[in-house]
Amino acid sequence: MLSNLLMNLRRFIPYVALAGFIAFGSFARGQGKGVVVIDAGHGGHDRGGVPGQRISEKDKCLDVALRLRRILQGDGYKVVMTREDDVFVPLGTRVTIGNSYRNSTFVSIHFNCSTRMGANGIETYYYSRDSATLAASIHRNVVATAPTENRGIRRRGFYVLRRASNPAVLVECGFLTNPEEGRLAQTDSYRQKLAEQIARGIRRQPPPFNRPLTDSLLFAAQASPVAEADPNRDFVRADAVRERSSKKKKKRKKSKSSRTAKKKTSSARESSSKKESSSTKAEG
Ligand SMILES: [Zn+2]
Repeated sequence: MLSNLLMNLRRFIPYVALAGFIAFGSFARGQGKGVVVIDAGHGGHDRGGVPGQRISEKDKCLDVALRLRRILQGDGYKVVMTREDDVFVPLGTRVTIGNSYRNSTFVSIHFNCSTRMGANGIETYYYSRDSATLAASIHRNVVATAPTENRGIRRRGFYVLRRASNPAVLVECGFLTNPEEGRLAQTDSYRQKLAEQIARGIRRQPPPFNRPLTDSLLFAAQASPVAEADPNRDFVRADAVRERSSKKKKKRKKSKSSRTAKKKTSSARESSSKKESSSTKAEG
């Protein structure tokens, strides 16, 4: 009687093993790793960048985003794209997509631009406090291998960051208006490298090494009381959080420069770097 029962049970062993294997497989494929929402900046009629910019930002953003998707899917993450073609997606829709996945991670990919050709470097933005470690992790990894400046991590209320209910980060992968960074961004291998480093950051892997801030920005970080309170040396400053309408932007420029004048601590280099970041069009 007992031996018959054991025989029957033994017959089920392969099925149980198979079910276990499938369950483990789906776990390893990402149920345990969570969801990453990748947001390729701009698209459609919105090319990104400054008017007349030679290299189209929207295409480079999408290319890095698609590469990042491939890497993360290979790792077992569930990946959701806010766009996977050259289409215009309103910022509100991007946020809605991101917020519809609880406990997901939102990563927005952009390239920088400036009217000053010399402007260069990588910068990473976040808004909510619980996005800060993700921003630091991504930033340090991207900066570690990019042969360009470390412009730091900044807190700023860009729409897609401010409205996000999950940790959300926006990476500016270098200046397309800079001859050297523009040239790099046009190579497949460099965009692949950017995607790999962003993926490392999402996995919270430590960077191969730490790159110091650009001299002028390091000076800005030291001059800022917020930066002093932050243990991370590559934290630059917490900017006032406002809607980036063009009117307000102008006002902000004014108040910023009057503050700068009052401080007396600012060097000419620092103010030139501020000009760069205010002409930066991370979302516009
Ligand atoms: Zn952009």
